[in-house]
Amino acid sequence: MSVVPLIGHDAVRERLLARIREQALPASLLLHGPRGVGKQRLALWLAQAMLCDVARANGSAPCGTCSHCRLAERWEHPDILWVFPRPRLSDGDAKPEAVLQDLAEGVAERRGKKGHGLYAPPAGTDGIYVATVRAVLRGMAPAPALARHRVLVVGDAERMVPQEGSDQAANAFLKLLEEPPASTTIVLTSSEPGALLPTIRSRVVAVRVAPLPAGEMRRFLAQEPVAEALAALGKAGMPVDEERRLALAGGAPGALFAATSRAAAFRDAAALVESVDAGAAQRYRTAFARGAAGARGAFSDLLDATTDLLAAQAREAAAVAPRVALRAATGAGAVERAKERANQNAIPQLVTARLLRDLAEGRA
Ligand SMILES: [Zn+2]
Repeated sequence: MSVVPLIGHDAVRERLLARIREQALPASLLLHGPRGVGKQRLALWLAQAMLCDVARANGSAPCGTCSHCRLAERWEHPDILWVFPRPRLSDGDAKPEAVLQDLAEGVAERRGKKGHGLYAPPAGTDGIYVATVRAVLRGMAPAPALARHRVLVVGDAERMVPQEGSDQAANAFLKLLEEPPASTTIVLTSSEPGALLPTIRSRVVAVRVAPLPAGEMRRFLAQEPVAEALAALGKAGMPVDEERRLALAGGAPGALFAATSRAAAFRDAAALVESVDAGAAQRYRTAFARGAAGARGAFSDLLDATTDLLAAQAREAAAVAPRVALRAATGAGAVERAKERANQNAIPQLVTARLLRDLAEGRA
């Protein structure tokens, strides 16, 4: 099953194809534009265009039928390496295999159970860590695996410096830009290009990706898997009306999934907090439902939403029910400890069980 195709961006696509035809595509590019507009999808499309047999021969758009296209459209081409923010791995200096495995899991999460590739943005706490960048550098084979060329796509590239005020990740990456491996094109994407290190910005050719006009947003919304995915998010507050969906998206298809993933995280957080007073058995059922593995990004979204929910409860209850307010306020500490455990890669079930017990016992 292929992910839903990229819609729109025709002008920028034609410009990029022209550069490929002229053999003048820069070795390093930066696609920048609003969050959720489709920059990473465009980068993956460009990668496909560079590997496709037909596009390579004719300078046309990727054919969609050659072996490279088929792999690329399932996000499975070994010569397209896609890096984006992930929860921190427990081992600070993880081995390349562990990091590459984690990235593969991240791609599988983005592809989703139905394989449509309609994904929400990474949680605010996710990052592109030093270990990731180093592992990518070390894990890269000396040459492309199947194609004559390969492409490294780095999504949300501004998140390369999220930790301890360290520029190590960005500096490791800088080295890659200065001395790119043979036959490798690097495509960064960012909705906050100003947050990139100036030394990185100065080494990439910037290409702006504009919001989709209403007509193209309608084409996006009309795709069956999209309609299905949005319908499934109805309970999370996704409007049914197309005009409202257009307004919510603001020309950025990904914005729809950002809004709903946040709403879904809040709904789960509310259920979690409600189960605190429902007795130990219900708490275990709630914890068990989190699963042992699964989407770690979604789990950290849930913990973030729980923090926000408890803060809102504390504010609301401050005047009328001081005891409730106090408990909500002390609960915030328990959620912070849960986040630490989640970041250390503890199993979501166990983290949730411990969190619910702490909340029930009113531990700060
Ligand atoms: Zn092809």
